[in-house]
Amino acid sequence: MMSISSSTRGAARLSNSQVTPAVTSKLPDVATTIFTTMSAMAQRYGALNLSQGFPDFDGPGALLERVNYYLTQGYNQYPPMTGVVPLRENIAQKVRDLYGLECDSEAEVTVTAGATQALFCAIASVVNAGDEVIVFDPAYDSYDPVIRLQGGVPIHIALTAPAFTVDWLRVREAITSRTRLIIINTPHNPTGSVWTDEDIQELRDLVSDSNIYLIGDEVYEHMVFDQASHTSLCRYEDLYARSFVISSFGKTYHVTGWKVGYCVAPEPLTLEFRRIHQYVNFTVNTPVQYGLADFLQSSPEHHLQLANFYQAKRDLFCTLLAPSKFKITPAAGTYFQLLDYSDISDELDLSLAERWTKELGIASIPISVFYQDPSQCTHQALRFCFAKDDDTLKRAAEILCKL
Ligand code: PMP
Ligand code: GLN
Repeated sequence: MMSISSSTRGAARLSNSQVTPAVTSKLPDVATTIFTTMSAMAQRYGALNLSQGFPDFDGPGALLERVNYYLTQGYNQYPPMTGVVPLRENIAQKVRDLYGLECDSEAEVTVTAGATQALFCAIASVVNAGDEVIVFDPAYDSYDPVIRLQGGVPIHIALTAPAFTVDWLRVREAITSRTRLIIINTPHNPTGSVWTDEDIQELRDLVSDSNIYLIGDEVYEHMVFDQASHTSLCRYEDLYARSFVISSFGKTYHVTGWKVGYCVAPEPLTLEFRRIHQYVNFTVNTPVQYGLADFLQSSPEHHLQLANFYQAKRDLFCTLLAPSKFKITPAAGTYFQLLDYSDISDELDLSLAERWTKELGIASIPISVFYQDPSQCTHQALRFCFAKDDDTLKRAAEILCKL
């Protein structure tokens, strides 16, 4: 048996004579995520936290009540591996109502521990050693490390600033016989850009007659502004046939800490996805699944009105910042607003975000960290989360307008 000694605070510690074998990291270049880093810094310095993407208000009371009901009425043992039936049925119904996709809740819908787990399982389902995967920079931070864990090769293509659109010529040039997967994130974190019908047409032309799979990271599907509509991969039969479409209840219902999401994919893809899902997470906590199922059915207006709800917050934030020195293009989607600070400072975004957290008391997220090569980030901007009470947004704007 390993001998252990106790520290003065009572925690067990290895004695000096014991040696932990060195870990050969598969991700030696990976550090703690920028979201964790900036939120911790905000807390340390008592700063307003507009960095990590989460609301500073609670989820709908009726949803909390339903989860509480199931929690206290004995719904506390393992649910089915794929997710509870009513939740999967209501997800399938939502996808049918919004995107016209006839998907089978038994064979094509899997409930996951947030979109993060769904992304892991979807990538692991189709990426083998040596396979190339196209991701667009700035890219959400869960893609690249998971591709590499499968032995895959991420091929990063920078979006074209300042609108952060896809350069389709570059995508065409990047396709090889080893291209296995393209990861699409619309509405886009961290820039707030959204894909158009033209983007979808380009994608269709590109992948038809290929063996390329798609992942649609659509966690901000209900946050598309100015009357535009969300180009879900579920809308297009030919694209859906090769897609994993992923969403997150955390975003939609203001409950990011619950970590519940889902993946919708055609049966052959879902089969492989579940082979992995059952060993990564097996399933997701029971009372929250039943509570979400009830709420999805009883209150569709919640997700249908979410775009208006967040558009009002975006507009408030941008209006309050109008007198500031920031250059602002209102976000087309998500709950993130980029603020171009090039008229205020020449500093690199990472050090500026850290300095403003300490000195001004406001935390944001730099965007260069989402590039494989941060020097490719030519746009001097920080990301601010506007999923906040109006008072918080006013306090944030007061600070930023003094710059
Ligand atoms: N994808 C994107 C683009 C995100 O912004 C996030 C973060 N919320 C996720 C995936 C992960 O979502 P979840 O918290 O449900 O795991
Ligand atoms: N998706 C959230 C964001 O963009 C963060 C999630 C996380 O901390 N992993 O801020």
